[in-house]
Amino acid sequence: MTDLLTRYADILAAVDRVDAVAYAGTRNYIDGAVSYLSPYISRGVLSLPYVRERVLSRYSREQAYTFIFELAWREYFQRQWYQLGDRIWSDIKGPQQGFCHYSIPDALLTATTGITAIDAAIEQLHTTGYMHNHLRMYVASLACNIGRAHWAAPSRWMYYHLADHDLASNTLSWQWVAGTFSSKKYYCDQSNINKFCHTDQRDSFLDVPYEQLAHLPMPQVLSKHSLPQLQTRLPDTPALQLLYNKPLLIYNACTLDPLWRREMDANRVLLLEPEHYRKYPVSPRVLSFILELAENIPGIQLFCGGVDDLMRTASFPHIFAKKHPSSLHYPATLDEPEWLFPQVVHAPGSFMSFWKKCEKYL
Ligand SMILES: Cc1cc2nc3c(=O)[nH]c(=O)nc-3n(C[C@H](O)[C@H](O)[C@H](O)COP(=O)(O)OP(=O)(O)OC[C@H]3O[C@@H](n4cnc5c(N)ncnc54)[C@H](O)[C@@H]3O)c2cc1C
Repeated sequence: MTDLLTRYADILAAVDRVDAVAYAGTRNYIDGAVSYLSPYISRGVLSLPYVRERVLSRYSREQAYTFIFELAWREYFQRQWYQLGDRIWSDIKGPQQGFCHYSIPDALLTATTGITAIDAAIEQLHTTGYMHNHLRMYVASLACNIGRAHWAAPSRWMYYHLADHDLASNTLSWQWVAGTFSSKKYYCDQSNINKFCHTDQRDSFLDVPYEQLAHLPMPQVLSKHSLPQLQTRLPDTPALQLLYNKPLLIYNACTLDPLWRREMDANRVLLLEPEHYRKYPVSPRVLSFILELAENIPGIQLFCGGVDDLMRTASFPHIFAKKHPSSLHYPATLDEPEWLFPQVVHAPGSFMSFWKKCEKYL
């Protein structure tokens, strides 16, 4: 695991270190050659096409196939978010089966499930803001399918800690594991965890034949649950220094692209809306990461308030923002984001159907 990068030059250099061949063979392993790029992609610093083109400048299409396939997952979830809108907050394909409560097993909050690989991954999430994809699946499965929590509260907790927090990828992945955005629930047994995490744990509550997992009684260690108060304390911001004869460019924590309208002589404002963070809080560590990434945009000023409050400060000849599900309510001209597969606008119900459409344009 590498530390979070915040300088733009370092982030671009990290893209050029992606090893697409090793990635294809090892991505499921805890120490596999994953890219660690999601914090920069999710924050809008890097676009998916940029990452793909840089990788294709060093690898053939065949070599880069698996990596691009995984990039497409992100695009799929974004497309789903546009299509489904607020419906991503409720069970999509059908109600979650067998859940008992709407809170979070305490053992996840305190990294004391007794499954050593999972506890280590939760500790890592708390201290670094990152968790490997396979571990995210294990944690979600433990919470929803073994600990019988509804997916909504634990997904919110994970989102809070993730530097790459993304409402679509997070919510829809949790729903996928819980069986409300897929045809069946995802289960993992101890041998699967041992294999991909290089552990050798025996006799845990997950050390049972795979077929028995769906019928496990609730393990004692997951039986206590609670609902922590997750909050984001947005910083106090000094009064904005704006030039009202120049356009206004509005950024948010998902659109921190230093190249966007770079040549434009404009006011640049990072907008953090309290209402958004009340609904979808992020941790202090994640907030600092956002603010540090914003420093790559020359002249940007921070405004913590509603977009209407920002407009009240003055009127501008033009207002622009980058289009993202979180910016659709801005009274601005929205620039289309860069898509990997702009031709495939409609995302069908399954990723593989989406990918089949995309593959034609590879
Ligand atoms: C329960 C759960 C919650 C998740 N929450 C988030 C989240 O909030 N934000 C987020 O960005 N991803 C989320 N993911 C998806 C995935 O775990 C991360 O994108 C991935 O682990 C990021 O690490 P990486 O950059 O090293 O990925 P790599 O394996 O190197 O992949 C390269 C890029 O492809 C994209 N990608 C790869 N796998 C996925 C995937 N399964 N879904 C979506 N995009 C993918 C990402 O943009 C990633 O940066 C979640 C997955 C699960 C199972």
